[in-house]
Amino acid sequence: MYTLQFDINHCKTCPTGDCLVKCQFMSLDKTEAIKEMIKIAEGKDSPVLHDCVTCYGCEEYCKRGNHPFYLITEQRQAKGILTAPRAITRQWINIGEPRGKARLGQVKGKVLSFGFMPELLQLVRGRLFEDVMPSYVFGQEFFCNVVYIHFSNTSIIKERLPQVLENFRKLGVKEVVCMHDECYGAFASLAPAYGMEVPFRPIHYFEYLYGRLHDLAKELRPLRIKAAYQRPCSSRLSHDTHHFVRDILSIIGVELVERAYQDENALCCGDILGMNYGYELKNDVQSRNLDDMAEHDAEYCVFNCSACQNVLATKVAKRGIKPIHMIDLCKMAIGEKPSMEVS
Ligand code: SF4
Ligand code: SF4
Repeated sequence: MYTLQFDINHCKTCPTGDCLVKCQFMSLDKTEAIKEMIKIAEGKDSPVLHDCVTCYGCEEYCKRGNHPFYLITEQRQAKGILTAPRAITRQWINIGEPRGKARLGQVKGKVLSFGFMPELLQLVRGRLFEDVMPSYVFGQEFFCNVVYIHFSNTSIIKERLPQVLENFRKLGVKEVVCMHDECYGAFASLAPAYGMEVPFRPIHYFEYLYGRLHDLAKELRPLRIKAAYQRPCSSRLSHDTHHFVRDILSIIGVELVERAYQDENALCCGDILGMNYGYELKNDVQSRNLDDMAEHDAEYCVFNCSACQNVLATKVAKRGIKPIHMIDLCKMAIGEKPSMEVS
């Protein structure tokens, strides 16, 4: 059985308690934050186990190599503190069940992984991906299963993620370009946190895009637009790659508006918040986030995660802001996609 690697001594000597001090959904000072995290690590009950809304933020806020959110999730499951009704959790778990129907392209040493998000298959056409495609994998057999940390369920991840890693190992791939942010988080953060061996180098698709834009530098035309970036919850698990947002936007001539809810202070799309914690919380988070984009005169809202885009695209467009996926924005910069009108 895989065990979370969490060092309580890091908390006992922590100078900041940032994991919970910076939490946007609770109000704890440094002393309280450290005390509560130590209690959780000792297996005791804590208000945090009841009030956490699974934004994943504390995984980024802790700079001492601990995994506060994974620990919260472990302890919630151990104590039966559910974040959603059992039927909803079961429904989600069934969706990710391997069915032996994975789709494989012409798999080579380097492969694109779509996890289990069919909309990504449409996004990878054109020159940005011509050096890898048609080397790809898609299906539940390659689905990272990270979403279940929203449902206080790490046991299903500990059961399925090793099998997903084994499926990649059997293909003999050396590098996996993760087209979904959450998959990268699974391989670069969650699997190592549980001592699972990852038999390939995971590459975040932002890193891949950044490299391809350099390859295609002669075809780049600055877009000269102002954009807000919608950071997904999963990006907190791969915060080491967040700098690629600015790096990419900079080379394609997009000005990132300096708004309140970005970087460490970002707000998620709100979808899971609505499902698990009520529509009032979801509406509050979405309203503050979209108001912030509009107040800072963003012309475009750039999405990393297709699921966030599905949730927010219409709401963004109603405020006169054009919703676009990062990949499509890069296609605009190399002349493969026209600029957008808001309908
Ligand atoms: S989880 Fe990290 S930030 Fe939080 S108290 Fe422990 S060491 Fe400090
Ligand atoms: S996951 Fe988010 S809501 Fe939960 S404790 Fe961490 S920062 Fe707070």
